[in-house]
Amino acid sequence: MSVQVFIGLGSNLDNPGQQIRHALRELSELESSRLLKDSGLFKSPPLGPQDQPDYLNAVALLQTELEAESLLDHLQAIENRHGRVRSRRWGERTLDLDILLYGDKQIHTARLTVPHIGLAEREFVLYPLEKIQPDLVVPGKGQLKDLIKACPRTDIAFLGTIND
Ligand code: ATP
Ligand code: CA
Ligand code: CA
Repeated sequence: MSVQVFIGLGSNLDNPGQQIRHALRELSELESSRLLKDSGLFKSPPLGPQDQPDYLNAVALLQTELEAESLLDHLQAIENRHGRVRSRRWGERTLDLDILLYGDKQIHTARLTVPHIGLAEREFVLYPLEKIQPDLVVPGKGQLKDLIKACPRTDIAFLGTIND
């Protein structure tokens, strides 16, 4: 059965704009999946350690028949192909791909927490989601517009659409 999945993309190393563009293309080529929409590109300050470059972020909407853990495997393979190295927590990275929402499912396994753990507090997630689907309901958390009201926009910039 096919399900609509929101994926968060982030990069702050090695030409972040290109990292995000390439990652979107790879998402569009995933088996049993179709890329429906993306949010366009946002710029935001780092979460965690402040001695690292600003981030470029985006959110993608994917229609997929992949199971959640299988999708995570594919996303981690894409991160690895982009040379992702895990050093410090919330440290700099070439590419981060998070499963923000997997249909209306709530998932709690050793490898996956969905909706994604930081979703309601992170403006670099909430504002890109709003670009794609302003009337979204986040399972277990309520209306996106209410989450946005509780997370006022401080330091995130919309840079525009993402071209190939
Ligand atoms: P954060 O999860 O706070 O955004 P991060 O993205 O830097 O931090 P990673 O090092 O990329 O964290 O991922 C650590 C682990 O998080 C992964 O190995 C994965 O198993 C787990 N994880 C749990 N829930 C999710 C999810 N919804 N999407 C992606 N990874 C997840
Ligand atoms: Ca993340
Ligand atoms: Ca991650």
